[in-house]
Amino acid sequence: MEIIQLGTASIWPAEVSSSFLIDGHILVDCPNGLIKQMKRLDLDILKIDTVLITHFHADHYFDLPLLYLELAFDAAERGTQSCPLTLAGPSGIRAQTETLYRLAYADTAQAVYETIPFRYIDLAEDGRQHRLRYPEHGSGPAGAEDPAEGLAAGGGQIYDLRAYPVIHGATEAWGYTVTCREKTAGFTGDTSFCPGMEEIVRASDLAFVEASYPVHQSVHMGIDKILELQKKYPEKRIIPTHMGREARRAYEEAGGRAPADGTVWRL
Ligand SMILES: [Zn+2]
Ligand SMILES: [Zn+2]
Repeated sequence: MEIIQLGTASIWPAEVSSSFLIDGHILVDCPNGLIKQMKRLDLDILKIDTVLITHFHADHYFDLPLLYLELAFDAAERGTQSCPLTLAGPSGIRAQTETLYRLAYADTAQAVYETIPFRYIDLAEDGRQHRLRYPEHGSGPAGAEDPAEGLAAGGGQIYDLRAYPVIHGATEAWGYTVTCREKTAGFTGDTSFCPGMEEIVRASDLAFVEASYPVHQSVHMGIDKILELQKKYPEKRIIPTHMGREARRAYEEAGGRAPADGTVWRL
């Protein structure tokens, strides 16, 4: 898997808010400013077919309307057919994102919803484990599905998705692991120090863990906890994300190298 850490910051710094692109087509969170960031990094927005939303805070999903505009209208301009867009997220993901789009661009809502075939995974209703296949029917000859090779019948890719409830104040919040070719990447989303967060770290080879502050608080993790986890799980790569300015400084002062926006990770 190739994972681009598109954004590394919490709400306040100049860096883009925490978000990731897996193998060019799976987004983990879609914060305000993400589409422009993808353009700055020269990434193809039309390849996105899946968005995993961790929770309904603006710095995690407010650029969805901008993504839809690209998929609906830029695809038409380039003469490419829009592929289905799968959205996974908290309870009410469908209603919440439809409301967001209508608030953003009421005048194009009908056209967007007629153009993009949406699919929703409501984590509370549809379960926490899903197998995603790309492209859906594969491109090669039909064959046996081989998860060890990350191959679906027909030659497409398989990604096994698992969601974990995490504690982020009163907001329903989820972290994810994504497994392909027996390698697992984890994304905690916004969380306090809680069992779900640690389960994600344990299940992952490479885990992106939020650290908004130098020292953890009731709603967000801190760099102190990142350092603890790195010591407890030395065989894992544990990378801070969603960093505030002071958190970034604290990590560097502790000898860590805080990732910059656009850092590419390979698994
Ligand atoms: Zn956040
Ligand atoms: Zn949040």
